[in-house]
Amino acid sequence: MWRRCIFCMIARGEAPAHVVYEDDGVLAFLDIHPSAPGHTLIIPKAHVARVEDLSEEDASALFKALHRLVGRIQDAVDAPSSTIGVNNGPESGQEVPHVHIHVIPRFRGDRGGIIQGIVRSGRRPIQEEMQRIAEKIKELSAADTKLAHYAPGHIK
Ligand code: AMP
Ligand code: ZN
Repeated sequence: MWRRCIFCMIARGEAPAHVVYEDDGVLAFLDIHPSAPGHTLIIPKAHVARVEDLSEEDASALFKALHRLVGRIQDAVDAPSSTIGVNNGPESGQEVPHVHIHVIPRFRGDRGGIIQGIVRSGRRPIQEEMQRIAEKIKELSAADTKLAHYAPGHIK
């Protein structure tokens, strides 16, 4: 827990929030500057800045809470759809360095964009480049799986 982290303060009950869900590891509350009515943030109670640094337990608990809440959030504001996203790291625009999943209700004609519109490379990658990147990701995840036995948690 971080003394001055606003989301840790909300999790500790030291800062006000419109809490909509709580379990042992997770809290959800309304975003104070909503992009749409019902805009909700789902956080782990543990202070972790980035998704890749979450424990497996917190990662599962977060997605479980998302699964449980998303339909109810939509229903509460009569939204037929939602955009679900995480700003992961400062370069992505993350302002609060405590993992949070944004659930933003979406409405027909709301003039919002799509996740792929956040950033565009402006070019089509060549097959060799895609192949190389895919191989690299697989190689790194295979190494992680092997090492996880010795050092549970995050491995760089
Ligand atoms: P970001 O870190 O860019 O993914 O977004 C942080 C989000 O947290 C923003 O949408 C803020 O409106 C929201 N936020 C910041 N402080 C509070 C607060 N005290 N209560 C609720 N939401 C907050
Ligand atoms: Zn925190």
